[in-house]
Amino acid sequence: MPDPSPAGPTGERILVTAALPYANGPLHLGHLAGAYLPSDLFCRYQRLRGNDVAFICGSDEMGVAIMVRARKEGISPQELVDRIHPQIENAFKAFGMSFDHYGRTTSETHRETSQDFFRTLARQGVFTTKTEKQLFDPEAGIFLADRFVVGTCPKCGNENAYGDQCEKCGTALSPLELVNPRSTLSDATPELRETAHFYLPLADFQDRLSAWIDTHPEWKPNVLGQIRSWLSDGLRERAITRDVPWGVPVPEDVARDMGLDAEGKVIYVWFDAPIGYISATREWAAGRGTPDAWRDYWQQDTTRLVHFIGKDNIVFHCLMFPAMLMAHGDFVLPDNVPANEFLNIEGEKLSTSRGWAVWLHEYLEDFEPDLLRYALATTLPETKDADFNWAEFQTRVNSELADVLGNFVNRTMTFATRYFEGRVPPLENASDMDRATLAAIADFPERIGTAYNTYKMREAVFQTMALARLGNKYFNDTEPWHTRRTDMEACANTIHVSLQICGALAVLMDPVLPFTAARLRNMLQLGGIAPSTPRMGAFASSAATPAESGASPQIFWGDAAAPLLETGAPLGEPEILFTKIDDDVIQAQTEKLHAAGAGSAGGEDAASAGSDATGAPDAPHPPVADEASFDDFMKLDFRMGTVLEAEPVPKSNKLLRMVIDLGFEKRQILAGVRKHYTPEEMVGRRVAVVANLAPRQMMGLESQGMVLMAEDRDGSLHPLTSTGENGAIIR
Ligand SMILES: [Zn+2]
Repeated sequence: MPDPSPAGPTGERILVTAALPYANGPLHLGHLAGAYLPSDLFCRYQRLRGNDVAFICGSDEMGVAIMVRARKEGISPQELVDRIHPQIENAFKAFGMSFDHYGRTTSETHRETSQDFFRTLARQGVFTTKTEKQLFDPEAGIFLADRFVVGTCPKCGNENAYGDQCEKCGTALSPLELVNPRSTLSDATPELRETAHFYLPLADFQDRLSAWIDTHPEWKPNVLGQIRSWLSDGLRERAITRDVPWGVPVPEDVARDMGLDAEGKVIYVWFDAPIGYISATREWAAGRGTPDAWRDYWQQDTTRLVHFIGKDNIVFHCLMFPAMLMAHGDFVLPDNVPANEFLNIEGEKLSTSRGWAVWLHEYLEDFEPDLLRYALATTLPETKDADFNWAEFQTRVNSELADVLGNFVNRTMTFATRYFEGRVPPLENASDMDRATLAAIADFPERIGTAYNTYKMREAVFQTMALARLGNKYFNDTEPWHTRRTDMEACANTIHVSLQICGALAVLMDPVLPFTAARLRNMLQLGGIAPSTPRMGAFASSAATPAESGASPQIFWGDAAAPLLETGAPLGEPEILFTKIDDDVIQAQTEKLHAAGAGSAGGEDAASAGSDATGAPDAPHPPVADEASFDDFMKLDFRMGTVLEAEPVPKSNKLLRMVIDLGFEKRQILAGVRKHYTPEEMVGRRVAVVANLAPRQMMGLESQGMVLMAEDRDGSLHPLTSTGENGAIIR
């Protein structure tokens, strides 16, 4: 059988970075579809290929937005990031992101690395300095950058325009353009004071950047289009320091040399954040006991450096960070920056401030991570914006994962267990179809691998599922349920060939379905695969099962071209890989999305919307609803009742099913109170019920009314109660 790819390590050194998520709120589906899932697919493939991969990410914990958020919650920025960082890290782990290191930009290593980088560029005379007048808050004692100042928009008269933008008319502003500016920190009227800052004169790099970009015609057209537009506008100088009390301090010696006072100055977050990739790589190397090894990845020109990002980061990763790397001189430049476009949700632009988002930690309460990895991978916004919707998610899971992949594996394993004593049956006197099918498997590793290697993730995943389709069709065409009675040899051949397809799938589906692939390898009693090497640390080996850490020889990507299972080899117990998702489960998700989208008032407090973990204590009271007439009110029939029974609704983490005695009858009512009350806490309670609400179907059950609750701003619920008899009218 031809083996199109070498089975063992090919040893290409690949450094992969995924955009540092900003640690001011939890992760949502747009994050996963932008930088993280594509980078993980790429790295899992490259490791299986035997390449030497370092996959680096971390939390971006500096910047003004974190200060603003922390202030709003009445805590320090450090306390905020100490809370958010583990939330982000845990969501990544749960989704199987195989980072070799996940760092944070508040680390000591990052401070050192960032300051060293800054110092090197300063000593080479790369920076300029400039003194200008800026708004200063005399009460808070700091300069007011960006969103620390509000005032009247000079264009439209909006009295609450921010120092960087008026959200009403969309005009980009500088703080000095605001009429009647005031500090958001103290409400004081700011003064104009002089302050000096460092600048990176990007125009000095324009020609080198243009020449370098011209050597990469293979980059994605959406990425090249944005870069060329920036270059044709002409690059300008950009400030790289800020007068704010949260960030990596400007090194004092450098400031002194340039005749400036470093007091209160920090490195601006756009300059500082990409250096986070370097500091995280240093931490990873140190953790492996080879503190200098990070240089092999960043400073050897044989390294292939790839930045995975969303389209909002293109200018930073394709022009500004490369200019910094060029200026420094010791670093490689990116080989590719495969930026993705944006993901919409149910046809609308994702918006955290409107609550129009699917949060990863909430998704995980209801579904397995692999289902979303697969569904998202088939709809990634690779060249243009794409759309996620729950109905399509259900179709991907039910019609592709369950009906094709899961069904094929299950039928094959069931036949092997029932009729061949749980062992791989022999292949004897193979038919043309058996031989053609085995030969067809051999093409898949290269076909899928080429797609991953050229950043065509959707195509790679489509080809992976094509192998499962091939298996399913072959199984149907050879009809082993007939041959089992008429021609046991032909039946054995079908199961032998089908098991080899399962074996190939157990390797080739590892990038997109790592948790399921590990279960399938267990079922097939296949040995360990390449990424389970111990140097990968907790993140990278998180999807490997204990059985895979044994001494058995490692399987590489190219091995899947040839049969992986030996005749007579014992198999494990068959298990169901995927369960179909019911309509009511999907409907509940859609309702939840619309409820969150409708219930959020908006504003710039983006990340807290829809998240129960980060509700701000000083959130505004929701506005009073539109006026209702007395007749409107009289249409509603409120009654007192007593909760007789309460139990959780299966497959729902929100709903309790209750039976409530209204005196004249008993009602089944579903209420979304499970996070606040146990069934035991509800039984016996006196509650107020809307008794004439039209019945509603929820999770397949009928809810015959509604229990009234008082809801605090932090989302906690309290039942309305009274001592009136059951059935008493409330008005
Ligand atoms: Zn305006």
